[in-house]
Amino acid sequence: MDVTTARERLEDMLAELDRSIGVLQGDPVAIREHSAADAGSDLTDADRTRAMLTVATTQRRAVIDAIKRLDEGSYGQCVDCRGQVPEGRLEARPEAARCVQCQGKRERRR
Ligand SMILES: [Zn+2]
Repeated sequence: MDVTTARERLEDMLAELDRSIGVLQGDPVAIREHSAADAGSDLTDADRTRAMLTVATTQRRAVIDAIKRLDEGSYGQCVDCRGQVPEGRLEARPEAARCVQCQGKRERRR
């Protein structure tokens, strides 16, 4: 994947994530949370919204980091071992920062 395509896809993803985060932050379910906590009900929806917000925020950071790597010319390089991230992996996840091996190691450490 060439860097122009990668940048376009990342910028699309960023716009999409910004939109989702805005919607999630304005979610009436999330806002209702305070009163719901007192009533002891409806927490599941608020929890779900919060979980989605965490996922979206984490991914947004990954996308921004990937755009930064594009600017620095290190895009497509694994941030841990400096090896090449496989093309197919970048196609599927343009924001991927690590090769499959390093990502696997990192996830096992958690
Ligand atoms: Zn690696």
